[in-house]
Amino acid sequence: MALMGQMMSMPLLISSLIQHAARHSGDTEIVSKRVEGDLHRYTWKDAELRSRQAAQAFARLGLKAGERVATLAWNGYRHLEIYYGASGSELVCHTINPRLFPEQIAWIANDAQDALLCFDLSFLPLIEKLAPHLSTLRHLVLMTDRAHMPAQTSLPNLLCYEELLAAEDGHYDWPQFDENAASSICYTSGTTGHPKGAVYSHRSTVLHAFASALPDAMDCSRKDVILPVVPMFHVNAWGLPYSSAIVGCKLVMPGPHLDGKSLFELFESEGVTFSAGVPTVWLGLLNYVGANQLKFSSFKRTVIGGSACPPAMLKTLMDDYGVEVIHAWGMTELSPLGTLSRLTAKQLTLPQEQQRRLLEKQGKVIYGVDMDIIDDEGQALPWDGQSAGNLVVRGHWVINSYFGQQGSPLQPVHDAAGVAQGQWFPTGDVATIDADGFMQITDRSKDVIKSGGEWISSIDLENIAMAHPAVHEAAAISARHPKWDERPLLVVVKKPGQALSREEMLAFYEGRIAKWQIPDDVVFVDEIPHTATGKIQKLKLRELFKDHSLPS
Ligand code: ADP
Repeated sequence: MALMGQMMSMPLLISSLIQHAARHSGDTEIVSKRVEGDLHRYTWKDAELRSRQAAQAFARLGLKAGERVATLAWNGYRHLEIYYGASGSELVCHTINPRLFPEQIAWIANDAQDALLCFDLSFLPLIEKLAPHLSTLRHLVLMTDRAHMPAQTSLPNLLCYEELLAAEDGHYDWPQFDENAASSICYTSGTTGHPKGAVYSHRSTVLHAFASALPDAMDCSRKDVILPVVPMFHVNAWGLPYSSAIVGCKLVMPGPHLDGKSLFELFESEGVTFSAGVPTVWLGLLNYVGANQLKFSSFKRTVIGGSACPPAMLKTLMDDYGVEVIHAWGMTELSPLGTLSRLTAKQLTLPQEQQRRLLEKQGKVIYGVDMDIIDDEGQALPWDGQSAGNLVVRGHWVINSYFGQQGSPLQPVHDAAGVAQGQWFPTGDVATIDADGFMQITDRSKDVIKSGGEWISSIDLENIAMAHPAVHEAAAISARHPKWDERPLLVVVKKPGQALSREEMLAFYEGRIAKWQIPDDVVFVDEIPHTATGKIQKLKLRELFKDHSLPS
């Protein structure tokens, strides 16, 4: 038998993250904007104690290992305590996106068989309506104190979170168990069909947190002040509640206040250095700072992902505000981080313009995940920065199967010589990878515009439109065409008070893209529909414009 390592074997458990933060960064602050309206401050040490009390409270309510504790809540300290209290005591934290349709919320809660639901005050009316449809719930907990409990509610036996915690003494040893046990569940937003649950394990979560904090990933440090704009119900705020505990930095939670003004004020008052979010929230923040001619005094770095970061946004943040943009790609099935765009030593010697082009891509994988691009037959394609193929991934924090579903989503891949390369997860994205391993998403496979057998990247078309000074937001979708099957249609929201004609918009494409890829038409709208995670709802747009007749 091989010689075995003689090192301590300790399971990688989520509780160890907050224990570490409490022991070694105990007095570092966690600041939360509360639903109640005020600002709450305490420390990692306080957070750990209250997480233990939450774990005791869940046990007192009769929850058993593996049962699901659901949340409908904004980013805040109580939500953080539930993350750690539930997962740390071998329960499974199920964060539900409150921006989903009520029927979808009920469907997800029932599918996950949630036993207990903790929710913020803002969602009381929603839960009053939904409660009769939530068939597996045994307990409802309102995440507030006695003073804010409603005088009247249709909910029977509504529990008060602060009272539950006050009844516990916190004398609780975090249990040790198999690191492969489930820690949390997130559902994909289900743009097609029902949402599907991705079940993370303690092991996958801790490894993801380790890797995502690395310098070539999110570059998190104990010197940082991190404000996750990305909600804790969107793939666990991209792991920031865990990676910030690993580095033991100050954490700032924005609550429900995600408008430009509220965010800017919180960034400034708390000295935020690092943040993360989808492009749409940065649009709001940048509009606010631009309109009021403000500058950030501490904000240094941000991760942008969830959908493609328009180069124009990257440029504004970097050149006008001195904020480094880390463009990242990931998905719910990947916990979510897959790639981030950070330059290599070799690339840092390139001219500025070339460096920019690289930063605009989705970037390189972090150790722990691997990726490839394949054709429809499963054959790996060359990494030449040109060949576009289906992006597949595998790794320690990539799903193996969906919650409660038979069968595996994985598919076999082989190299050009036909040699099997094992099983990979198909992401549904189309991408190129260059010789340095920089990946660029050209589209979601269902969003590519197929014009006469050629593919046009909707992201490319959107990025160009977004660079026009009068454009607030743009979406490129396919419209039916009698000869070419599909042709690009550009849907544009203008910036307030700006004039822009169809002809001016189309002329802007000249010289920026091949002529045959220029959209056939432009429509101006007041608003583009977004999904519950803040992405452009292409499906809805395609429906809205399905009868649009293109000029011949
Ligand atoms: P949903 O959008 O269904 O809520 P996810 O949040 O898991 O689910 O989204 C994952 C998808 O978002 C990816 O498969 C990809 O299409 C898109 N995406 C994420 N980051 C980027 C990015 N930086 N550029 C382009 N697309 C991205």
